[in-house]
Amino acid sequence: MLPTLHERFPLRDCNTFGVEARARWFCRASAAEELAALAAEPRLAGLPRLVLGGGSNLLLTGDFDGLVIKVEVPGLRELGEAGGAWHVEVGAGENWHATVERLLAMHRPGLENLALIPGNCGAAPIQNIGAYGLELAERLDSLTAWDIDLQRLVQMSAAECDFGYRDSVFKHALAGRRVILSLRLALPKQWQPVAAYADVAQELKARHVADPQPRDLFDAVVAIRRRKLPDPAVIGNAGSFFKNPIVSREQHRALIGHHPSLVGYPLPGGRVKLAAAWLIDAAGLKGVTRGRAGVYEKQALVLVNRGGATGAEILALAREVQDKVAEKFGIRLEPEPVIV
Ligand SMILES: Cc1cc2nc3c(=O)[nH]c(=O)nc-3n(C[C@H](O)[C@H](O)[C@H](O)COP(=O)(O)OP(=O)(O)OC[C@H]3O[C@@H](n4cnc5c(N)ncnc54)[C@H](O)[C@@H]3O)c2cc1C
Repeated sequence: MLPTLHERFPLRDCNTFGVEARARWFCRASAAEELAALAAEPRLAGLPRLVLGGGSNLLLTGDFDGLVIKVEVPGLRELGEAGGAWHVEVGAGENWHATVERLLAMHRPGLENLALIPGNCGAAPIQNIGAYGLELAERLDSLTAWDIDLQRLVQMSAAECDFGYRDSVFKHALAGRRVILSLRLALPKQWQPVAAYADVAQELKARHVADPQPRDLFDAVVAIRRRKLPDPAVIGNAGSFFKNPIVSREQHRALIGHHPSLVGYPLPGGRVKLAAAWLIDAAGLKGVTRGRAGVYEKQALVLVNRGGATGAEILALAREVQDKVAEKFGIRLEPEPVIV
């Protein structure tokens, strides 16, 4: 059945930057049949499509002259155990944090480090969401998606998603082609805390937790995030605006020679992940305001809408950050959100 189509639909409440923009067409879809019906609708023929979840990893730089499909597939159900893990299927339209919390209450832990990441479950594989030492890739068995070109459902294993750091096949070969409808999560039966990350270890220590249980880890991550990150309901933002750049051992050595306090984390294989927030701060941009856009004063990786900013203003600030960091360090920062 064709979902209701809304014309000239306002998107301000559909993106956590709170930017004003309109979609030529907008609809909500919660089943594959609705996606199939959209393909046959003459009014939408040839128009570009934008699939939307919670709009928390998106910068709209103007009106979208096409169809925005907000995916609202509901549901969470247990599928049983396999390969030492509890398998749970969750609909793409379910809120991610609420799902993490619900699974914890069901004694199916394993996602605690990813608590409080905004957005919906369907978007989680797109950039392989990660935080505090854990990535979705480590907890995803497979997913079901609608292939827009083939007009049929497809199953994809986690391996087929080709996950990397804030990266997946959905940003490359399959960009714009697959509408994710549900995820099959695999939560290890033998739960082990992922608590080596410095912030997490410190928070647990400060709470006098020596032997963390899932709820301790969840509470610690929630507390750290509440302290550090702006709540999009209060100040518009899309979380980290830039990825942490990864450089070779040699490049890192050269940079440290000039900037001894440079913050970096060694990766397996000798490469080093640099803290983009440190680079932005060192380029003198932490807390700056340009028009109605700004670099968040408590965390330089986050760009914020200080009230009424346009997508173009935020994009211009992002370009300034990229240019100044490139000028000072010879590194071009890559944006994390999808820019439309
Ligand atoms: C305060 C804050 C903190 C954040 N912290 C983190 C963090 O710690 N780690 C992290 O990884 N991210 C973080 N993010 C980014 C964001 O929350 C995640 O990327 C999240 O997964 C986006 O979900 P969404 O539903 O809002 O996606 P949207 O913003 O709606 O969409 C993002 C992209 O996914 C695509 N997409 C969405 N749903 C589907 C679907 N069902 N099928 C196919 N494509 C789809 C969209 O087309 C778009 O390309 C943060 C954001 C904010 C605002």
